Order: sequence, then structure tokens, then C-alpha cells
Amino acid sequence: MNLRPADIRVHDFEEVDEGLPEQTAVLEALRCMECPRPMCVQGCPVCIDIPAFISAIAHEQFRDAARIIKHDNMLPAICGRVCPQENQCQGSCIMSKKGKPVRIGALERFVADWEREHGVESPEVAPPTGKRVAVVGSGPAGITAASELARAGHSVTIFESLHTAGGVLSYGIPAFRLPKDIVEFEIDQVLAMGAELRLNHIVGRSVPVDELLRYDAVLIGSGAGLPYFMGIEGENLNGVYSANEFLTRVNLMHADRFPEFDTPVIRGSRVAVIGGGNVAMDSARVARRLGAKVYLIYRRREEDLPARADEVRNAIDEGVDMVCCANPVRILGGPAVSGIECVRMDMCELDASGRPIPRPLKGEGSRFTLDVDMVVEAIGQGPNPLLSGLIPELKRGPKGNILVDDDGRTSIPHVFAAGDIATGAATVIWAMGSAKNAARSINRMLAEED
Ligand code: FAD
Ligand code: SF4
Repeated sequence: MNLRPADIRVHDFEEVDEGLPEQTAVLEALRCMECPRPMCVQGCPVCIDIPAFISAIAHEQFRDAARIIKHDNMLPAICGRVCPQENQCQGSCIMSKKGKPVRIGALERFVADWEREHGVESPEVAPPTGKRVAVVGSGPAGITAASELARAGHSVTIFESLHTAGGVLSYGIPAFRLPKDIVEFEIDQVLAMGAELRLNHIVGRSVPVDELLRYDAVLIGSGAGLPYFMGIEGENLNGVYSANEFLTRVNLMHADRFPEFDTPVIRGSRVAVIGGGNVAMDSARVARRLGAKVYLIYRRREEDLPARADEVRNAIDEGVDMVCCANPVRILGGPAVSGIECVRMDMCELDASGRPIPRPLKGEGSRFTLDVDMVVEAIGQGPNPLLSGLIPELKRGPKGNILVDDDGRTSIPHVFAAGDIATGAATVIWAMGSAKNAARSINRMLAEED
């Protein structure tokens, strides 16, 4: 990857990875062996014809490559940047047995960026069917479903509670990983297919549930925006944020540019981020860009961090201090945060999967305190409870996720659900894959009704 130097990028929110230049992309594409039974396609949750688009790049037919990708994925510039390719398409590439896998994600991003610069072709849309479909949420699930439904000729209305579309793509993932003009551009391509977007519309509040259920079909893609907290002493102090709130304030409300924009964020000079996933890594790197000394506190070892390896390396290069094998037990201060007390964790015992089971150490020296003036908790989030709470007929799983069958259908026959609200917090491309599946079931259902 072509990364900007850490000591420069840590002072701004510009994209860290500059992508592949054309010549490098073509050379990379020439590494593909064009396997007759490509494992990479099976590794992609939306089954892009990967060998075909890579072959088009190798022949410098970039427009064809874009057409092939967009047959299955309307958000390629986004996926090329944020998909955990190492566990998906790229992780299944046969070349990894001989050395390095083909950089499928980087090639997908190259094609999408090339097309954006050279003019975009809109996919064909079927003639109007006269059917009305409502989509709740404009995250990757909602947008993907809207593109499939609009392509089939249905009249699609997307309801989004926030003032900006994109869900986590806009409010969660920071601009230095996913520039916001790219999110806007790819969503605009879907809207150009005829879907209508109604921002500032909260279904269940400003849009009554009765109105929603009157549509011929409904797809719920309301995500997993409910932050979990540790439940430790001191969480109500000033300066404690959930990662969702912290990232939303900076990414969506531009708190980094307060008072030019009117949302502030407490600017800690020393920040503790609790957690080890992508959300924790994003929070830590955002806090570094706000000028803070940042400790990332994680209960297992550094090699167990669940975040993408590239993002962990980027965070370390940018100066995030990894405090591993430690668990917070108390946030200190009053009324504002002044420190965080942690206990060291013992990592001797392994679970069935080989991961260590963290157990708190006892006795002298097992506890330590970090002086911090802000704490960001990034320990996970659950399904958004508003809608499912208002519609008792919607069956829910033990964690609050809406239960769906293999077709994405809920316990109400014309209501479908996809993305994090159905699966629990997952990934962009899994949300898109489940949305495509549900949208195709809706298309089938509406066609059968006719
Ligand atoms: P969301 O993206 O959450 O979108 C749901 C939308 O529904 C939101 O816009 C919300 O405002 C709206 N909504 C909710 N309730 C209502 C209502 N009642 N009425 C109207 N609108 C409503 N995944 C990756 O693959 N790679 C990454 O690098 C990555 N990084 C991440 C970083 C962060 C900080 C976070 C939080 C997540 C990250 N993920 C990543 C996970 C990924 O972003 C999610 O899995 C994905 O966005 C889920 O898509 P979704 O459409 O189901 O939900
Ligand atoms: Fe790989 Fe994601 Fe692109 Fe599929 S969408 S080919 S998983 S990078």
C-alpha cells in the first residue's frame, strides 16, 4: 500500500492510503492466475466475478472492469477501502499459498477511483412496476437493498434518521480511512437509479409505524447503533464517551473544527480508549489527530487484537500506545475524568479456539492507574432497539437482533431485515450481502403477487 508518512498524516484527516497507481495496478492484475474454480469469488460475500474484473484490468480495459464489479457491488470504492479482504476474497486467493495473495481490494478500489475520474455509467433500470418499497436506514444494507429494488423497477423510499446518508460509513469510519466525498458519490449513484432518500426521518418517531407497514414491502436496515458500556464505576463522569458518540461528534458534526462547527468534544490531552476492534482503533487514531496522547487498553495480548492487522500497524505507527493484558476496573475523577484504574490480566489458559482466557491477576502490583482526562469505550454495540420495540410482532433474538429466515424475511410476511440489525455488529460487505439477498426475495415476492 502507498501510505502517507505517519508523522505527517497524524496531524490531518486526509486519506492515509493513496491507492495503487495505474501501472502498479496492471502489474498486480497480471499476477492473477485466472483459476478455473476461483476460491476468491467464494470468499466475497457478494460474489463479484473477481477473475473477470482482474483480467479486464490486466488488459487495461478499466471501464469493463468497473461494469463487472458493479454488476454485483454498487459500492466498490467503499468496499475496496474498508472490506477486511485478508479474511474474505484475498484470504482465499490461491497465490497466498505461494507467497502474497493478489491485492483484490486495492484493485477494486483502483477501478472504482478510475471510473469516478473518467465518468460513471449507470446500470440499467427495469420499467416501473407500480410497487412501493420502504427501506429503513441508509447504511450499506439500506443502500444496497435500494439499488437492487430500484434496478427491478420498484418505487423505493429510504428513510434515514440522520441528516446525512451512509450510516456507519458516514458517522463511524473516519475520513482518513474512508473519505466522505466517496461515500456521498457512491450513494448518489444509487439515488440516480430512482430511489428517493428522506433524511431526518426517524421511523417510529417522525414516520409512524402504521405508515411504514402500508408499503408493499419493507426492508429494515437500521444497524447496530446501540453502544455497550462496561458498567464500571465512574462511567457518568464528564469526558467519558461511547465510541459511537465520540466518532459521530468528530466525523459527522466536525467537532475537530469547533467553534467553526457548533458541536464540541472534550479535548483530552491524554485519552484512554477501551477495546481492541476496528472501532477502538478508529477512536484511538481520531484522538491522536485531535492532538492527544492515546492509550489503547485491551484485555488480551497485542497479537489477539481483533482489529485488522493493517489498522493496528497504522495506529502504532501514528503513536497509539498499546496497553495490552489489562482491563479497566474504575474511572477516576469528579466531576471530570482524571484517571483510569486497570487490573493486569493473566493469559495462561487458552480456550478451545486457542485464544487466551483473560483472568484478572490478584495481589500486589496487579493494579495500575493511567492519568487520563478522557475515556472512550469501544467494547461493542448491539442492534438499534427503537423499531423492533415498537412492532411487537417482529420476533427478536436474545441480543435484540431481528430474526430472519434464509430469505431475509422477518416474522411479518412483507417485512424483511438485513445488515447489522439482523446479524448483530458485523462488516460492511456482510451487511451488503444480506441486503442483496433480502432485496431479491422482495423482488420475487412482488413478482409472484403480480
Ligand atoms: P448502519 O451502517 O449502522 O446503518 C444503519 C442506518 O439506519 C443509520 O444511518 C441509522 O441512522 C439508520 N436508522 C436507524 N434507526 C432508524 C430509524 N428508526 N429510522 C430511520 N433510520 C434509522 N466494517 C467493515 O467492513 N470494515 C471496517 O473497516 C469497519 N469499520 C468500522 C468502524 C466503526 C467505527 C464502526 C462503528 C463499524 C465499522 N465496521 C466496519 C462495521 C460496519 O460499518 C457495519 O457492519 C455496517 O455499517 C452495517 O451496515 P448497516 O447498513 O446494517 O447499518
Ligand atoms: Fe473482496 Fe470486499 Fe471486493 Fe468482495 S467486495 S471482492 S470481499 S474487497
